[in-house]
Amino acid sequence: PVRVRFCPSPTGSPHVGLVRTALFNWAFARHHGGQIVFRMEDTDRERSTQESYDAILELWRWLGLDWDEGIEVGGPHGPYLQSERGDIYRDVLSHLSASSYTYDCFCRNDEVEARRKASGSKAQGYDGFCRDLSAEQRAAFEAEGRQPIVRFRMPEGSITWNDAVRGEITFETENVPDYALSRANGDPLYTLVNPVDDAMMEITHVLRGEDLLSSTPRQLALFEALVELGIATSVPVYGHLPYVMGQGNKKLSKRDPEAHALAYREQGFIPEGLLNYLALLGWAISGDRDVFSMAEMVEAFDIDDVNPNPARFDLKKADAINTSQMRLLPLDEITHRVLPFLKADGVVADPVSDADAQMLELAMPLVGERINKLTEASTMLGFLFVDEADFVRHEELDGPGKDVVKAAYDALAGIDTWSTAAIEEALRVALVERLGLKPRVAFGPVRIAVTGRRVSPPLFESMELLGRDRSMTRLHDAMS
Ligand code: GLU
Repeated sequence: PVRVRFCPSPTGSPHVGLVRTALFNWAFARHHGGQIVFRMEDTDRERSTQESYDAILELWRWLGLDWDEGIEVGGPHGPYLQSERGDIYRDVLSHLSASSYTYDCFCRNDEVEARRKASGSKAQGYDGFCRDLSAEQRAAFEAEGRQPIVRFRMPEGSITWNDAVRGEITFETENVPDYALSRANGDPLYTLVNPVDDAMMEITHVLRGEDLLSSTPRQLALFEALVELGIATSVPVYGHLPYVMGQGNKKLSKRDPEAHALAYREQGFIPEGLLNYLALLGWAISGDRDVFSMAEMVEAFDIDDVNPNPARFDLKKADAINTSQMRLLPLDEITHRVLPFLKADGVVADPVSDADAQMLELAMPLVGERINKLTEASTMLGFLFVDEADFVRHEELDGPGKDVVKAAYDALAGIDTWSTAAIEEALRVALVERLGLKPRVAFGPVRIAVTGRRVSPPLFESMELLGRDRSMTRLHDAMS
């Protein structure tokens, strides 16, 4: 069976590239009826934080990226937090070293550097100095009090794999130096723990970002050793997902504000919108269709269709996709989702009062099809929920604008029933027919007077909802 992993490092605010990778793993596993293992790669203790860990989980839950085994849910291959797997890694290291897949290295970086300079070599990385130390050399280093690190002994020849996204890739191992698996204090490094966990958690497919491609030959060599030692049963398929490029065709980096995935939630994106957009970063469902559900993505997802070329992150497109996904939500679902924003913005009380709930039910049909993000509801509907005393106009009215409002006030003062149709009729006659104003010029000032903004839900409906007294008070206040 297919087994993939989510394995973020809890260092910093989770970024969109991480989510894109998780989404493709998720879609791949779900398509194949496989399993998803979630482990936290908190091996870099200095950079890992609880805050980042919590943010990642929060994000995954908000997006609905579920998993079958791992942190929070447990499973037969735990623990799923690397910081709790120290004994496992030490045990694997001792097996590797007993079979000479690794060796102790006593060199300091400055010594390696000095040797490189002296030899005029252009090769990067470690030169293999400690590969075959004699007992005397070793004893001499130890007598100096040096603590060795453990290095993996790269095999001779070349390493080839059939990348699930990029096809066949070959590295000559002479270009891949022996690399460190642990620090001098014995702490394991990412280079060791990542493949060891993949082996022990029986991962079949490693789908990850292209930034990790250069570490794959090293990991494959280590994997071969783990297979020979019986620690791994087989080597997983590796597939490297395309880079995500930001502004100026540079890789989207953690420093770019649009890279922070949780910020989209704060801005009022819905998870359907963000996931749908991220799915397009290197994949397409078919033809020129770009709006689809996650169920459709799971159904259609084929790793062969992932495009290896860099994908461009486009905020405008993300907005547009989010809008399309908003339009697919039923109105009561939109209401349900905007409620936390309305509460947080102080538009409605928490818990919601009966009066506010009633107003909301009447108001949502006016804006359900107009808001592109959940945050927009507060701006659009705020005017309905404030007392006249607290009402603020966000736009100024000039002299001619005030005259229009005055004419509107006079026209409305005489109507019998306060209904959308009657309001519309009275204003048309008074402003468009009698004053000869274009509708935009006629209704703009009225809109500002009543809603406080240039953009609002439909004006006449809004006025009906607001009621006669409140509407007339606002018109009156705006006239002077
Ligand atoms: N923990 C690694 C990262 O966040 C992922 C490594 C992998 O996918 O192999 O970059």
